[in-house]
Amino acid sequence: MTAAVIALGANLGDAKAALQGAVDALAATAGITVLACSQVFETDPVGGPEQPVYVNAVVLVDTALEPLALLGRANEIEQEWHRTREVRWGPRTLDVDIIDIDGAVIDTERLTVPHPRAHLRGFVLVPWLAVDPNAMLHGRAVHDLIADVDVSGVRALDPAVSLQVPA
Ligand code: ATP
Ligand code: CA
Ligand code: CA
Repeated sequence: MTAAVIALGANLGDAKAALQGAVDALAATAGITVLACSQVFETDPVGGPEQPVYVNAVVLVDTALEPLALLGRANEIEQEWHRTREVRWGPRTLDVDIIDIDGAVIDTERLTVPHPRAHLRGFVLVPWLAVDPNAMLHGRAVHDLIADVDVSGVRALDPAVSLQVPA
């Protein structure tokens, strides 16, 4: 099993339900064990058109899947939530991104790991650090990386809306 870090985001429809649905679908996948979920954060959109605020969270998993199979499963889960792609960085019912796969470096047409923009994004780094205080990205502590990132648009939601890891 390999440790992987998955970021979830949504800002259309019942966005919190989509995040929990993604966690449930990951947990129901043969070859994926969900270890932990971050709190849920509300975040101001970054890039793209004017659009509603997001909810974001980061999920830690162990996986026996090959990286491309993990991406395929992530895309399938997005499809279950009727994800469409009309404008780059436009609003979405569910986004499932692979942030890191145990520090592996992958650069193919379909998959780049670590996620090429993760180090710039408060909406990824803040939830990731919340669920793993020892998180590392590109050989650097996320705790340190985050000092150079604008996190002003990232707000923790009430812990009552937390994601449940299925038993
Ligand atoms: P961003 O990639 O900046 O977060 P986005 O999530 O809105 O933007 P998508 O339209 O969801 O972008 O994805 C575009 C393509 O990115 C996907 O078809 C997928 O093949 C590719 N991709 C490359 N690396 C990754 C990764 N680490 N996680 C998820 N998708 C990836
Ligand atoms: Ca994304
Ligand atoms: Ca994506």
